[in-house]
Amino acid sequence: MKKIALIPGDGIGPEIIEAAVRVLDAVGRFEYVTCYAGGSAIDRFDDPLPETELEKMKACDAVLMGALGGPKWDNLPGGKRPEAGLLRLRKGLNVFANLRPVKIYPALKEASPLKNSVIGDGIDIMIVRELIGGIYFGRRQEGDEVAYDTLEYSADEVRRINEVACRLAGMRRGVVTSVDKANVLASSRLWRKATVAFYENHPEITLNHLYVDNAAMQLVVNPRQFDVIVTGNMFGDILSDEASVITGSIGMLPSASVGYPGEIALYEPIHGSAPDIAGKGIANPIATILSAALMLRFSFDMNDEADRIEAAVEAVLNKGLRTADLGGGEASLKTAEMTEAILSELK
Ligand code: NAD
Repeated sequence: MKKIALIPGDGIGPEIIEAAVRVLDAVGRFEYVTCYAGGSAIDRFDDPLPETELEKMKACDAVLMGALGGPKWDNLPGGKRPEAGLLRLRKGLNVFANLRPVKIYPALKEASPLKNSVIGDGIDIMIVRELIGGIYFGRRQEGDEVAYDTLEYSADEVRRINEVACRLAGMRRGVVTSVDKANVLASSRLWRKATVAFYENHPEITLNHLYVDNAAMQLVVNPRQFDVIVTGNMFGDILSDEASVITGSIGMLPSASVGYPGEIALYEPIHGSAPDIAGKGIANPIATILSAALMLRFSFDMNDEADRIEAAVEAVLNKGLRTADLGGGEASLKTAEMTEAILSELK
């Protein structure tokens, strides 16, 4: 039986993780191990990620997380804060590829800031961002008059992120767009060269290249041209946030952070712990439920079960059922009611 490390975390985290577990239990049998990170770990252990908790996670087959952080821990020094636990968690699990599917459901078109004519019959993009290299991890020096950060990539790092992008494209429409700044940056020229060389062995994939400034424009002008976007850490950070707002609500978007095939991966909604609505039972559980579906697809090879969960989510949206963040107004469903609606579709 697959063993899932659950990190309920802080704020709305426990509420949305409970919802995801109910959905997981409706499609399969899993063993759960509750782990602590972030604020809940600080309260228990005075440490946002104790080594013992990380070891507990590593002994599982995948990690499903709610969200970490909140105002209660905001005044702690840097290394003691919940965010420090999150960075150590990603590094500790060696998850070098962050996957963010960006999908606009036809039923939620009105929630998108893009025009209907741009959205057409829907947008479905997978952004693959390199997560533990590039300028965020390069040598840096900080002075009062001069400071620098360095952007370094090796051909190996480019190859391994493209292995992930290529696998995903093979499961989708077979088109990869690599985003760089090769007209200016040496590291981008290496990125492009290594990317071109990689796809020479994958003729089944169509490879395109875009400069990052153009890619930022294309995402809002013609997002339907994209299938898989692969890019470095900082470009991916910016583009994935831009892409996520075009879907309308932050409560809808899942993410996966993965390493080498067969190694442990981390699944979480892209939103935070939403302290403003914590404890009210009104959080949208869909991003976490879809993160659980990604876990089934990528970590457990349970594609049918993942398809069923995704179809159930789409079906409740098509019926007009909405939580408050989706503009449900007076008729808004609470977290538990939305979860029930998804469970009934699964039956
Ligand atoms: P947030 O994503 O928690 O909330 C932003 C807004 O979106 C809020 O109004 C919130 O109510 C709403 N929202 C978010 N998720 C929702 C959901 N599922 N259903 C309905 N509404 C939802 O971002 P924030 O307020 O900037 O951050 C709050 C805390 O979360 C901070 O401590 C931050 O550091 C942390 N955070 C954690 C993660 C993570 O664990 N990966 C990510 C982002 C922020």
